[in-house]
Amino acid sequence: MSPQKEVFKEPIVRAETDRLKFPKLCPVCGAPSEEVMPLTVIPNQFQSLRPSLNYGTTPFGRGQRDSFSPMKKTFYVPVCEGHHYTDEGAGQYRSYCLVFDGLALSYLILASLAFGDELWRGVPVGPWFFFAVGIFVSFLIITYALFRPGPVEDAVKVVGFDGGLRHVWIQFKQEQYRDEFMKENAMTAELVKWVQRA
Ligand SMILES: [Zn+2]
Repeated sequence: MSPQKEVFKEPIVRAETDRLKFPKLCPVCGAPSEEVMPLTVIPNQFQSLRPSLNYGTTPFGRGQRDSFSPMKKTFYVPVCEGHHYTDEGAGQYRSYCLVFDGLALSYLILASLAFGDELWRGVPVGPWFFFAVGIFVSFLIITYALFRPGPVEDAVKVVGFDGGLRHVWIQFKQEQYRDEFMKENAMTAELVKWVQRA
């Protein structure tokens, strides 16, 4: 693969993984932080994952990847009480959700066949097709809600790591928070405008 340059509009932060210190502010709203939230990322994958992700339940084979790359890093991000949440519940529901998505899809396909058949035969159309569409759409919405990144992951986005895990690139949503982070890590962090992906 050829190296890919990714340029950011707002500068992102390159920090030393081991000496990194998060400011005692909530990255989402800037309020003084009372709680700490784990943010787990797996290096090499160049993507941030949900905190306390239940490995093996997602459709992308993350469970397998995890066993191939045991290196993962958890950052503890101070957050305010309002934005503190644990992900344990959602992690469990996510696997059920996928099963129901599949069932709803099969039901939708069957109902579409019946619908087409009724149209073709010119008999009155039963309500099942519309019922199936309704169920399928509801499950899509639930799936979206369970899988979308939380506000904290959105505010502290891990862009990537270098090979030896020595540095981490983080994109902060709040400019003010980024400034505070730079103050906390003045000796080790620097602002960068782009990264090169291997
Ligand atoms: Zn907050």
